[in-house]
Amino acid sequence: METEDELQQIHDIEKGFALLHDMSVSADIISAKTKLLAELATEPKTLDGTPLSQLGKGLRQPGVETLLCMVCQKAGYIENKRPVMANCPECHGAGTRPQTFECFPCQGSGKFTQWRTGRIVRCRVCKGSGRFTSPTLTQACQTCLGHKTVPIDNQFVVDYVKCSKCQGMGETKAPFKPVFNDNTRQKLLQARERAATSK
Ligand SMILES: [Zn+2]
Ligand SMILES: [Zn+2]
Ligand SMILES: [Zn+2]
Repeated sequence: METEDELQQIHDIEKGFALLHDMSVSADIISAKTKLLAELATEPKTLDGTPLSQLGKGLRQPGVETLLCMVCQKAGYIENKRPVMANCPECHGAGTRPQTFECFPCQGSGKFTQWRTGRIVRCRVCKGSGRFTSPTLTQACQTCLGHKTVPIDNQFVVDYVKCSKCQGMGETKAPFKPVFNDNTRQKLLQARERAATSK
């Protein structure tokens, strides 16, 4: 779905090209149009679909005192970097693995030291693996901790989030500063004096 701004942009582009078309200009124009529309479609957007070029334009309210938004530094959006996830190679995305048990006779080492010769030999019970795999019981995968996916090293995607502090404007209204007229000021001073003398 296009936003209203995008629809306006598309409309403007269409209108501009329609004008040129009426003037019967070459096929270059048509390809330029295709390119422009494609650029518009691939422009980075925030998660709520606002093109980044529409953000951080300020409040645009003449006469309103503004403050720079310190959260987004006037960009109107914030970048959230998150790792690209892939199916866990250990459990193939299942999140669980068959439960394993330590071999009791060799205490999980898979080996024995032969009493007579002092030679190290393979445990015959577990065939040297040190563990048994349960055919029925499962446990959480230790690689992905049951999450089914793992982050791929050094691969990230960036999410753009519209700044909630300034609603994407990049600016906020300056806080309201009370301005006292002389009458109010006088009353305040009198009240303060009364309070001081009554002590
Ligand atoms: Zn902001
Ligand atoms: Zn064993
Ligand atoms: Zn896993």
